[in-house]
Amino acid sequence: MSKQTLSFQAEVAQLLHLVTHSLYSNQEIFLRELISNASDACDKLRFEALNNNALYEDAPNLEVRVSYDKDAKTLTISDNGIGLSQQEAIDNLGTIAKSGTRDFMSKLSGDQKSDAQLIGQFGVGFYSGFIVAEKITVESRRAGLPASEGVRWVSGGTGDFEVEVIERAQRGTSVTLHLRDDATEYLSTWKLKSVIAKYSDHISLPILMRKEEWKEGEDNQGGEMVVTDEWETVNQASALWTRPKKDVTDEQYIEFYKTVGHDFEAPLAWSHNRVEGSTEYTQLLYVPARAPMDLWNRDKKAGVKLYVKRVFIMDDAEALMPVYLRFVKGVIDSADLPLNVSRELLQESRDVRAIREGSTKRVLSMLEDMAKAEKDEGASADDKAKYAKFYAAFGAVLKEGLAEDSANRERLAKLLRFASTSSDAANVSLADYKARMKDGQDAIYYITADTLAAAKNSPQLEVFRKKGIEVLLMTDRVDEWALNYLTEFDGTPLQSVARGAVDLGKLQDEAEKKAAEDAAEAFKPLLAKLKEALKDKAQDVRVTTRLVDSPACLVVADDGMSTQLARMLKQAGQDVPMTKPILEVNADHALVKKLDGSVHFNDLAHILFDQALLAEGGMPEDPAAYVRRVNALLL
Ligand code: ADP
Ligand code: MG
Repeated sequence: MSKQTLSFQAEVAQLLHLVTHSLYSNQEIFLRELISNASDACDKLRFEALNNNALYEDAPNLEVRVSYDKDAKTLTISDNGIGLSQQEAIDNLGTIAKSGTRDFMSKLSGDQKSDAQLIGQFGVGFYSGFIVAEKITVESRRAGLPASEGVRWVSGGTGDFEVEVIERAQRGTSVTLHLRDDATEYLSTWKLKSVIAKYSDHISLPILMRKEEWKEGEDNQGGEMVVTDEWETVNQASALWTRPKKDVTDEQYIEFYKTVGHDFEAPLAWSHNRVEGSTEYTQLLYVPARAPMDLWNRDKKAGVKLYVKRVFIMDDAEALMPVYLRFVKGVIDSADLPLNVSRELLQESRDVRAIREGSTKRVLSMLEDMAKAEKDEGASADDKAKYAKFYAAFGAVLKEGLAEDSANRERLAKLLRFASTSSDAANVSLADYKARMKDGQDAIYYITADTLAAAKNSPQLEVFRKKGIEVLLMTDRVDEWALNYLTEFDGTPLQSVARGAVDLGKLQDEAEKKAAEDAAEAFKPLLAKLKEALKDKAQDVRVTTRLVDSPACLVVADDGMSTQLARMLKQAGQDVPMTKPILEVNADHALVKKLDGSVHFNDLAHILFDQALLAEGGMPEDPAAYVRRVNALLL
């Protein structure tokens, strides 16, 4: 069969350009990526062979071999894993299959610097070979296929690649890098060993290299290291999580994370434990420092790999983590599950439920430790900053847990942080808030809005500001929904300032209460007229106790859906039951006083309503009518 020349998918070409131009300062990671692929390929073989032992052929010992040829300037990474069929070589090495990567490419700007930053958000994988190689040759045969169905894939890493059928006796894949002149330092056993020790020591497979020996020179004049034909294992070749904690350094934990988490940045925290009891398993869980592109996709698979007795079973084992902890990466190795466990079986297994509960608790305590360090005088500046970093990346996802995980709701509530009228930074915990509550205050007040500015400037806050009562400002899209599940914290109810009548209880003095009642009485006829004029828009009109400077605002009834949430659902294309808001007017405001007896009463009433809507970030139902009315008055 003849050679075929095929083009890379457009995104690959873009990615290749970026890889070669921006990862230059961190060249050596290519070896980690290629060894990790070799290791993945062996994991896949081991898994497929569970049902088909013949796939091992005559080579049951899975391993990776790294070798080089100084004269040809090539470096080869070989494995006897699952291998690639011809079609798989075309598909997997010519396109970007991973969904996150496609998104990533579409977000790239022309700005090289920020792109180099961005690239850390996902593993560049196979293509990182082109950081050091001007040409890559891949030869492979998929396990189970005959020797005549091998494949050779060759590319210079620009626009296209060639594939052809070859005869290949060996199962698995050899990746040969034709090194560029500025990357010949990798043609050295010492150099390769040190890079492997740094990045790939935790790989559970043996990584083999040819042994070097000292050879004396002629007549005992000098000498040199020469490569022999004997192979030796150059890594520890035991899965990192199976080693005792005390034998693993922080650097090793971090490098392991970068491999399992496909991340370039170090994690914020990790937790490594062997759990014994009725369900036995080992967990090594990491909290990343940065959110991946597809964090908002709730269907995104969790980042935890499942092993059973050290045999890799599956990536993204979602049954092992609740959805709201989908950012957690790592490994869980169970001693109890059967090797042929399927995703369906996982969902139903009692052991898996126990593992999920145990892992959830672990993650929560990692987060609690980070939060504690934030306020610990003795903690390093680095540790102090961690929780805020975590929260900026994942706080909004964590909130989903209020709804999803009622068993841990109290622990989650303590981990929440918000901006407030006393702090622009989202660093106020509910406990902080409670500690600052005024004498006689009996609720935790909050407001939800689309932006921090809209929340801060909302007329609803006027009376709270006047009385010096702190209000939490919530601007995450999930807040409104999540807060439905958190009605109280530590015995104190949470109360939206835009909901129901404001009852400041003991915070209001008798004179104020009396004045409000008198105003309501005096305004009765006017309120009735307003209610009639606005009967299509407002379910009620009443005198407010929450405004100081603004003429009017909209509130929802105690049991109604907030206008904010209704707006969000509508935007998401959902059917929203129409509940009309309540218009509250400020009896002390000149505009409201002017209403009575005005010849423009009807226009003013509508303007008052529409302005209240605008003030909270909404849009009048008929903007043109609003403009017409205002203009008529201006003239
Ligand atoms: P990832 O490893 O995250 O899937 P890579 O870019 O590293 O992404 O690799 C792309 C794909 O190429 C892999 O998913 C795999 O299908 C295939 N591949 C790469 N290296 C090997 C290998 N040594 N053996 C078998 N398949 C491989
Ligand atoms: Mg990879």
